[in-house]
Amino acid sequence: RQMFENARRDGLTGCYNKRYFMERLHSEISYAMRHKVPLTLIMMDLDHFKSVNDTYGHLTGDEVLRELARRIHNTLRSEDVFARYGGEEFTVIARGISHEGGLALGERLRSVVVSDPFRYEQLSLPITISIGVASIPHVRISSPIHLLELADKALYEAKNGGRNRVVSA
Ligand code: GH3
Ligand code: MG
Ligand code: MG
Repeated sequence: RQMFENARRDGLTGCYNKRYFMERLHSEISYAMRHKVPLTLIMMDLDHFKSVNDTYGHLTGDEVLRELARRIHNTLRSEDVFARYGGEEFTVIARGISHEGGLALGERLRSVVVSDPFRYEQLSLPITISIGVASIPHVRISSPIHLLELADKALYEAKNGGRNRVVSA
């Protein structure tokens, strides 16, 4: 069981990895559509994370990713699927959460990151994240990838709109 669990987890943060996330995205969307229950997909990306690495080094950057994952994890429910999608990009599949609930959850996640600076050794780092939220049936989708694209587009708008914000698809 431990081997199976390790194969689906990211080594640095302990989050699910992208491969497992993609599997779950497909199955959770099928379930939500079949049973006519809502589902929210959240995509988040650290703001100006490159400058954390450039200024304080890659190891500090790694600690920021771990602390971020810890804060997000503590805010989610056990049935939410929380994954590291890419380097400094994370996703959440929130089962049974509608559009309004998804936006509120996005705000909560943004808030647990920005509310307290990240402390590491002698440093105190003000970290923020940008968030894109896409929910069914609020948006109509043709495939799971489509929902991913919509959340990603909302995330992109959050970046363009000034970062440290939640944007809805
Ligand atoms: P933006 O607000 O537009 O997202 O700016 P950004 O600097 O966060 O974006 P960019 O894509 O330029 O930089 C992402 C950085 O994330 C660059 C890369 O080195 C860093 N990164 C990705 N994975 C890891 C990791 O595992 N550890 C560390 N320390 N850094 C990582
Ligand atoms: Mg990125
Ligand atoms: Mg970034």
